[in-house]
Amino acid sequence: MTRLRWGSATDVGRVRANNQDHVLVTGSLFAVADGMGGHVGGEIASQTAINALQKEFEKDSSIDSLIKSAKNANKAVWQRSQKEANLKGMGTTLTAVGLIKNNNEEELGIVNVGDSRAYLLQNGELSQITEDHSLVEEAVRSGQLSAEEAIHHSSRHILTRAIGIEQDVEVDNWIILPYKGDRILLCSDGLINEVDDSHIAQILREHKDPQKAADFLVEKAKSNGGSDNISVVVIDILEDEVSTKATSTNPTSLSVDSTPHKNVIDDLEYPSAAPISSFTPSKNKSKPLHAMPKKKIFTLRVVIFIFLLLLVIGGAIGVVDWYAKDSYFVGLKKNQIVIFQGRPGGVLWFKPQIVDKTPYNTSQILAFHIASLEAGQKEPSFSASKRFVHNLIKEAKQQKTFAANTPPPVNASSTTTSTGLG
Ligand code: MG
Repeated sequence: MTRLRWGSATDVGRVRANNQDHVLVTGSLFAVADGMGGHVGGEIASQTAINALQKEFEKDSSIDSLIKSAKNANKAVWQRSQKEANLKGMGTTLTAVGLIKNNNEEELGIVNVGDSRAYLLQNGELSQITEDHSLVEEAVRSGQLSAEEAIHHSSRHILTRAIGIEQDVEVDNWIILPYKGDRILLCSDGLINEVDDSHIAQILREHKDPQKAADFLVEKAKSNGGSDNISVVVIDILEDEVSTKATSTNPTSLSVDSTPHKNVIDDLEYPSAAPISSFTPSKNKSKPLHAMPKKKIFTLRVVIFIFLLLLVIGGAIGVVDWYAKDSYFVGLKKNQIVIFQGRPGGVLWFKPQIVDKTPYNTSQILAFHIASLEAGQKEPSFSASKRFVHNLIKEAKQQKTFAANTPPPVNASSTTTSTGLG
């Protein structure tokens, strides 16, 4: 059973008049949405997306359901923007993490559209799980811009993908195994643009309580300028299904669509940002750059390997067992003649077992058989062993009868004496 603890905070910042971000925390679904467009559009877009996401995800907790929920959020925002003129063009980012079931294992599904982010803090190391859908970040990924150039690039807020802009949307998604001690951070760009990754990591490491960590992150962003709305969700994995089973895995990017996306301009926050021509967005989706280091221990392959190993060991034991038990011998227990199952001296851990104590002892057989009985007289079956004992007794009796009916040999000297006397 995966046990989570979380904290969240959202703040208007120090410059904006209203907070267009929304966060969601339900215990099994967590999300950050950063809305944009019009006077009220951004706020409505992020709220609409969060509501639609939650509604769909409640039906079924699987990665497919989470993706469907994000697509549902897209549809809800898009439909609303089509109906209301003052909401036209509104959109939102959406980054969500949900507790999902996959092959009866509890996992964390992560979906992302836009430039809000999901990070993983594992063993004190912070890595970004999601990829920003922004022109600048795509240029960084394709090597056209350096990370340093990207930080202050004038077009860094131009999105290449967002919720609600088109009728359908491609949703990036990952599955990770919850690993006890891991911490996941969801945040809007109001945090990232004010606090660099190393300071985010430092705050996450320093504040064990997720609510305090969330509050400190927001405070740090505000003290660094707070030029945008700031939203943060911090989720701690207190227990995983196998804290017990100690696993975590690389995120798996399941999205393969490589169609180009219409650039979405965050026109409210950054009015009339001109499309940039110095580079083009990368159309190649790459896997997340910051793969998590731990591997799943109990993969299907490992389970099959263990099963086959047990099968081989079981087979070997079976063969030894069969070899050890599938024979009989006649031997002695003290002076009593007994029949053993097994092999004289035993085989590995299988010792011979007495299966029949005959009523005979060594005084009832011919003396020269005793040595072979002491060593164990092997016989192919139990009945053959019985027959062998029977023959020993019979032989001894015959010998006795023969001896009784045979006159004693004539002694030469006594004959002479007798003759002499006669
Ligand atoms: Mg923002």
